[in-house]
Amino acid sequence: APALDVESIRAQFPILERQVHGKPLVYFDTAASAQRPRAVIDAVSRFYETQNANIHRGVHLLSQEATDAYESARTRVAKFINAPSRDELVFTRGTTESINLVAQAFLRPRLQPGDEIVVSEMEHHSNIVPWQMLCEQVGATLKVIPFNDAGELDLDAMDELLGPRVKLLAVVHVSNALGTVNPVAEICARAKAKGIPVLLDGAQAVPHQAVDVQALGCDFYCFSAHKMYGPTGVGALWAPMATLKAMAPYQGGGEMILKVSFDGTEYAAPPNKFEAGTPNIAGAVGFGAAVDWLDGLGMDRVAAYEAALLAAGTERLQSVPGLNIVGTARAKAGVISFTLDGVHPHDIGTIIDHYGVAIRTGHHCAMPAIARFGLPATARASLAVYNTVAEFDVLVEALHGVREMFG
Ligand code: PMP
Repeated sequence: APALDVESIRAQFPILERQVHGKPLVYFDTAASAQRPRAVIDAVSRFYETQNANIHRGVHLLSQEATDAYESARTRVAKFINAPSRDELVFTRGTTESINLVAQAFLRPRLQPGDEIVVSEMEHHSNIVPWQMLCEQVGATLKVIPFNDAGELDLDAMDELLGPRVKLLAVVHVSNALGTVNPVAEICARAKAKGIPVLLDGAQAVPHQAVDVQALGCDFYCFSAHKMYGPTGVGALWAPMATLKAMAPYQGGGEMILKVSFDGTEYAAPPNKFEAGTPNIAGAVGFGAAVDWLDGLGMDRVAAYEAALLAAGTERLQSVPGLNIVGTARAKAGVISFTLDGVHPHDIGTIIDHYGVAIRTGHHCAMPAIARFGLPATARASLAVYNTVAEFDVLVEALHGVREMFG
């Protein structure tokens, strides 16, 4: 297949036309939130302009069309991760809510005092805090898989941690702080051999590579639309139907019931059982448009383009004196975290903003991962299909400017 035409991709992102402090925008903060192509923006406005109504309730035409649009988005998002059934795809507010849903609706009723949950040292806070809260609620213990100086998980240590009291393993597929692509199929196989269910945080994986939940062999897969060119406030949880059926409800309310009386309530079948209340309908419609857009590019071509860009960007950044890359795993995607000798990352970010360059600085909601390197913060350039090697040249020029300012 021919390579991606980045200029035609860039032309589809209206925001890339704007200037920042009088300079063309160089957006290297996709890991925080991606920009949206015209196709997604239009799908959302078209929904509001022509079909807007509540779903699953009305007999009127708009309500039927809105329901069809919402449910069609579910079908396409489910297919995008090769879920065996569209009914296994639960719409949530995002990765964070998907993880909290699993913590409270799946694990909490199955957890006894003294049981264990295993996560890794490189998790986003959204894959740490819900488990800490649950451990506190139940009297369970959180165990942590360490990683090495390159940012690669220690799988031998993981094997040792996966003892008889472990009720769930929760691991990030691609680290937002270090860029590490974890060997999640291998991790799932090792856990499965011990009968331990695995949750994967796919927030940074789904935008950058083809994800097949069946091939991975996981039990739960969580992701967010806004990291993959879709709207904020919507995301998904995938789990096999048998698991979803065996789970307690999450929140109670409308849309998640079959029958309510004061003698008792009968819940709807999954996925509706986990979608109480009016959902983010337009968000789901935009989510569907985002996966259609990515499908149109082809995830294998997206991955190939971004791998080349990551390699070129890494090489260019390494040419800056005093720059240290944090996270040097053999398998990386989407993210280059770095520090610059003698300059606080926040100063880097503030100064290069005046060159039009947007990066993230701080702990990236993964404080333990950054602390592992003895650091309070890093600067992070994260990339997308709309970035170019020329933009890395602008970043490098801006970093030279930072070095000059700091003598
Ligand atoms: N996990 C990872 C790896 C992430 O990068 C993020 C977002 N920064 C999240 C989870 C949380 O996603 P959200 O804020 O969309 O719920």
